[in-house]
Amino acid sequence: MTRVALRAFSLCALTRLGTRQIVSHSRRLPTHLTTSASRWTSTVSEAQTPFPIFRDVPPLREMRKKMFREGKEVGFVATMGALHDGHLSLVRHALQENTDVFVSIFVNPTQFAAHEDLDSYPKTWEDDLRKLKQVQDEHAASSGPNSGSKIRGVFAPTVKVMYPTLPPSSDIAGSGSFVTITPLGNQLEGSSRPIFFRGVATVCTKLFNIMQADRVYFGQKDIQQCVLIKRMVKDFHIPTEVRVIPTSREPDGLAMSSRNVYLGERRRQDAVVLSRALFAARDLYNSGELRGKMIRNAAYDVFNQGSLVKRKDGQLGGSCQLEIDYIALSEPDSMGMIPDFAKVDPRRGAILSAAVYVQPVDEPRSEEEVGQRVVRLIDNVILEPREGETK
Ligand code: AMP
Repeated sequence: MTRVALRAFSLCALTRLGTRQIVSHSRRLPTHLTTSASRWTSTVSEAQTPFPIFRDVPPLREMRKKMFREGKEVGFVATMGALHDGHLSLVRHALQENTDVFVSIFVNPTQFAAHEDLDSYPKTWEDDLRKLKQVQDEHAASSGPNSGSKIRGVFAPTVKVMYPTLPPSSDIAGSGSFVTITPLGNQLEGSSRPIFFRGVATVCTKLFNIMQADRVYFGQKDIQQCVLIKRMVKDFHIPTEVRVIPTSREPDGLAMSSRNVYLGERRRQDAVVLSRALFAARDLYNSGELRGKMIRNAAYDVFNQGSLVKRKDGQLGGSCQLEIDYIALSEPDSMGMIPDFAKVDPRRGAILSAAVYVQPVDEPRSEEEVGQRVVRLIDNVILEPREGETK
């Protein structure tokens, strides 16, 4: 049976810089996507890419200015690469709702603490471009809205371009220009990863200033990030609309994530318990339950019932220990906690979010399993408002 434990976590620093300013159609992995010394000196092959690749701001600004003059509507999707269908769904929405779309691929160092996976974050540059091209081709062939819209470029800046003055510190006391959104950025994910939202808010402010997009697209998968970005856009009067796109899931319910590749097969089977727990709690809410404690308990119960971690062959998964970091019921707009003794206001609904640490398998059976690391997964469900009902 998969074992469940409770636990909290902490953090710290990292960095390094890159240079070079070009717009290219290179197929070679851009240097910002590596963390080795090669980041300092890139060479670029001449092979064509499906979209212009912008490595620096001025050429992008030029293009954007021209689009302003032409009255184009620009959508923007910020990513860290290793694209999967969740990212692509944001791009699809952006293509449907705008005339021109930009995608950024930048693994942002200031949102990774020192012990986290910046150096090993999956990098799949060629594959990413191929997937974006496919999405664009499918969109062009569709008869849906804005079928003439296009991905106009991929912004893949170096670290030096994004952090032009000081090296990017992910130390909480580090120097630099940062954007902080409190208390939102200190709760839930922010409590387990104290520099995370400072890094996210900082890099998104930079990206929004660079892109000047009419609409920016974020995934519900990272719900606290969505709420934080909306707050930031409102409080800093950033002229853009934040669009939140539903979570894309694997057929068994697991939320798609670039980090799922770290799980390996057996832990992947067990990780599905996270979405099942959230779905069970949502079912309870949908059946009429409003008490915070009962809704959260419904999720905990699923973790505690090992039988729900059944694999296709009918055997229990149970390859590893799952540690619950939190299962939280929150107000939809502020992410403020709804305590166990309170009830969800059905006119407002709520967010139920959770984070788990998936430990390495207890008894490794392969080389891949011997080298496993702890993987942190997050997920959430929306408890939709219900018309006409009161607490
Ligand atoms: P990342 O590359 O992880 O920073 O994610 C880039 C964007 O894709 C963020 O807005 C994420 O919320 C969004 N995203 C990641 N996974 C999913 C998913 N499974 N479904 C929908 N959006 C997602």
